[in-house]
Amino acid sequence: MGPCPHGAQRSPVIDPALLRRYDAPVPRYTSYPTARHFQNAVTESVFRASIASSNEDLIPSDLSLYVHLPFCRRPCFYCGCTRIVTRDASRASRYLEQLHQEIALQGAEIDRDRVVRQLHLGGGTPTYFTDAELASLMDAIRKAFTLDEGVDREFGIEVDPRTLDTARLHHLLSLGFNRVSFGIQDLDFKVQQAINRVQDPRYTLTLVEQAQGLGFASVNVDLLYGLPGQSPECFMATVEAILGIRPGRIALYGYAHLPQQFRYQRQIPASSLPDAEARIRLFLGAYERFMAAGYHPIGLDHFAREGDRLLDALQDGSLQRNFQGYSTHAGLDSLAVGISAISRIGTLYAQNTKDEEDYLTSLRAGHLPIRVGYHLNPDDVIRADVIERIMCHEELDGNAVEKRHRICFPEYFASSLERLEELERDELVERSGNRVVLRPLGKILRRIVAARFDAYLQPENPDGHYSRMI
Ligand code: SF4
Repeated sequence: MGPCPHGAQRSPVIDPALLRRYDAPVPRYTSYPTARHFQNAVTESVFRASIASSNEDLIPSDLSLYVHLPFCRRPCFYCGCTRIVTRDASRASRYLEQLHQEIALQGAEIDRDRVVRQLHLGGGTPTYFTDAELASLMDAIRKAFTLDEGVDREFGIEVDPRTLDTARLHHLLSLGFNRVSFGIQDLDFKVQQAINRVQDPRYTLTLVEQAQGLGFASVNVDLLYGLPGQSPECFMATVEAILGIRPGRIALYGYAHLPQQFRYQRQIPASSLPDAEARIRLFLGAYERFMAAGYHPIGLDHFAREGDRLLDALQDGSLQRNFQGYSTHAGLDSLAVGISAISRIGTLYAQNTKDEEDYLTSLRAGHLPIRVGYHLNPDDVIRADVIERIMCHEELDGNAVEKRHRICFPEYFASSLERLEELERDELVERSGNRVVLRPLGKILRRIVAARFDAYLQPENPDGHYSRMI
């Protein structure tokens, strides 16, 4: 389904009862297998060897670089990120110093003719740091790597409107960022109080508008449904306010309440959360408004309007999924720095320590702080490809999978295809020969479709570690 010439998208008729039936915990598939399967056999020397070998590839791939800046001044209660809540600037400076060291160490491993096409600063709150600190971080990155300085580069930064003003937006542009992503979640004051993230709606919306006017190639806003005290009426007011300023991209995430895993979530009483029915209404209400306003759904949880590169990437087949969500450059090796950051070089995942002290000590001793990871086996490679296509695109072409991996698609995936039959009956997918097409409900529930190809997950025995589908 391409964009409607008149702007508005046809909204599919979604049966809430079916949504409810498939509302099980499933991975978000930012990687396959998921990080739960990482093992400690992947060490610094394995990682270095993998980079060295990728430099020797006939055509070494270009790069994506992720920089994790975990510091925040106060905790948002819903947050599930790896982050450090502190107002101690010297603690953050110590981290930054070792981050520079890690950037230099990784850069020394990579051939300089491999270009960083995609750069993402995430957190935490990257704008926790001062303009001078961000400038010196970008200098360190430019010193260690060859950066794409052309218009096709995708250099993004996550920003917290509470740490931003117009001058800072100009500064980010001058550092080379051409994408900016605003954490908004909900503009309603009571909801903001309940999640410990109070930000002035008018100020926030003005900053987003300014960013669009200043020349960022893409401006994204993050919204979150399923928050404490969030009613469909108040959330729709947020949705309408956002549509009023028409950002290029909107990410709509569902809040996953996992208080056993995330300490601050224990501040949110389960009784204050919308129930399953209300969550579905929140999601569908926003989804339908975005469609009616001319936004196109992208993958799992993004919406883009015409002119945004994410929509172009969906249409030209270059959309890809990685640890940061969706991006527009396919086939890049991913390097990542900072605590908990995950790199992927060819068939190797390598993850840094999640512990701040371990991170600092390791780098002071001149070592990359790799602690766990995973080597994809040949079956993982095939399934990762299939799952990424389902997570990004609107159909899976089994013939193309056969050609890429030299397998017989129906034989190789016999049990997965058998498990798809239920989804066919419920009109999530349609099969014709080796093609699996996602129907409107299947696009919303694409994690369920992808899970049918996951060799590690039995959909009959959902794993409560993952977030629920809706
Ligand atoms: S949501 Fe963002 S700003 Fe809030 S605590 Fe988490 S990382 Fe920090």
